[in-house]
Amino acid sequence: MKFNTLSINESILKAVEEKGYSEPTPIQEKAIPHALLGKDILGCAQTGTGKTAAFLIPTIQKLKKHDPSKIRSLILTPTRELAIQIEENFLEYAKYTNIKSAIIFGGVPQKPQEKAIRQGVDIVVATPGRLLDLMKQKIIRINEIEVFILDEADRMLDMGFLFDVKRIIAAIPQKKQTLFFSATMPKEIKELTQTLLHDPVVIEV
Ligand code: AMP
Repeated sequence: MKFNTLSINESILKAVEEKGYSEPTPIQEKAIPHALLGKDILGCAQTGTGKTAAFLIPTIQKLKKHDPSKIRSLILTPTRELAIQIEENFLEYAKYTNIKSAIIFGGVPQKPQEKAIRQGVDIVVATPGRLLDLMKQKIIRINEIEVFILDEADRMLDMGFLFDVKRIIAAIPQKKQTLFFSATMPKEIKELTQTLLHDPVVIEV
């Protein structure tokens, strides 16, 4: 199996090749074609499986080109370390596109993040607490999100973020594509998948 059989466009393929990946991982092989077709995805996958590329590649491709007028994709992740890793991966896979991102997490001054958002970005990678702060201050609007990614949902629950996550979901349009990832499926997370996902492709790796 090769990356060039997954309907990934040239600009992203070139970046993937430069990363030195010879083949997609199982989650990438199973998720990317469905995600490109607009399907919701429920991925039961741990860190280390290549899940980051499985959600970033189709998201970058679907957004096509930079549009400074609104945020069209939100990637929600539980920790600042994960947010930084996702952003670093994004910068690599999107390097031959003009899609722009901003990263939002707590424990650091808000101003630089505010400035990044004001410049107009397509994708925001965020942890829940700071995102809610910026939403309350009306610095960030997520009411035009087209692709929503929830990463490490079970860890959100473990860290006590589930209520915050639900508040964020309530501010995103009903009509959107959701790519949902969780290593385990505790009851609360299963319930969340049932309210959030529409006819998802379920992938277990
Ligand atoms: P993740 O599960 O997304 O945190 O990825 C785990 C590691 O696998 C990261 O260091 C990625 O750079 C790497 N990786 C992702 N996709 C591939 C691939 N198709 N081939 C080889 N390594 C990969």
